[in-house]
Amino acid sequence: SKSSGKGRITWYDDELDAQRTRKQAIETGIREGLKRGEFDVVYQPIIEARHGTIASVEALVRWPRRPEGELVPDQFIALAESSGLIQALGQFVLRRACQEMGDFPNVRLSVNISPAQFRDVAFESKVADILAETGFPAQRLELEVTEGNLIENPERAIAAVAALKALGVTIALDDFGTGYSSIGYLRRYDFDKIKIDKSLASQVDRDPQAAALVAGTVNIANALGLAVTAEGVETEDHVRLLRLAGCQYLQGYYFSRPKPLHDVLGLPAEKAAV
Ligand code: C2E
Ligand code: CA
Ligand code: CA
Ligand code: CA
Repeated sequence: SKSSGKGRITWYDDELDAQRTRKQAIETGIREGLKRGEFDVVYQPIIEARHGTIASVEALVRWPRRPEGELVPDQFIALAESSGLIQALGQFVLRRACQEMGDFPNVRLSVNISPAQFRDVAFESKVADILAETGFPAQRLELEVTEGNLIENPERAIAAVAALKALGVTIALDDFGTGYSSIGYLRRYDFDKIKIDKSLASQVDRDPQAAALVAGTVNIANALGLAVTAEGVETEDHVRLLRLAGCQYLQGYYFSRPKPLHDVLGLPAEKAAV
């Protein structure tokens, strides 16, 4: 507000106003964009480290048809979370991915879940609804949760994880190695997998401490019966060292960037056979 105060105070006020306006514009854009079909889902393969085959794909949202220009998820997911739109956006991603994956019976699907989605006590039943509606088998779905999903309301998170596992869905702890007390979570939750964040995994070739942390994480995880995926695999050295450390799954630009599903998995089985 220009009339109030003087000098710097006014300048900061205007700056905050501008930020708020931009936030609101993006929130409105997400709401409208969902109606207008501006969002896409792309997929990045997750590779079985020993055999080099595609074990699963991770669904990642994109906003290429935003009229004001594309934003990357890190720029709009947080706003979708704070405005409550993440429920609708998350359901869009899950539904679209389950529909598209129906054509590829041998590959599993991973979908990211925001803390704000967990807050909704109807979340589990919405997942069950989308599985029923699309016919996608729960056993082929993995949901990726972060420390943020667990910190906010541990009781709720424990209930959500248990209910999802009862459906047959598996759960991965994402961004491992970026938080503060992630090891404690491994005892409290019935995870199936840990994903070592790219900020740690991609340092194995240049930082001996990172390499030791990755190897230690794999040992702890395996002792607890959890599989490990390493993210951010970009080079042949990463592949070699992360396999040596015992990571069961590898994911990163070395194998593929996130792409439309058919560019990752080829033609659907029935179409390829024709
Ligand atoms: P994330 O779940 O940790 O996903 C991995 C991110 O790293 C993706 O960025 C992916 O494109 C990128 N990546 C993959 N391989 C490499 C690599 O070798 N090197 C580098 N430098 N990066 C790599 P993206 O797609 O921009 O997504 C960023 C974050 O946004 C995701 O991090 C996730 O937290 C969030 N996100 C994306 N899609 C969704 C979604 O549908 N729902 C929710 N809740 N969050 C999403
Ligand atoms: Ca993820
Ligand atoms: Ca990550
Ligand atoms: Ca993340």
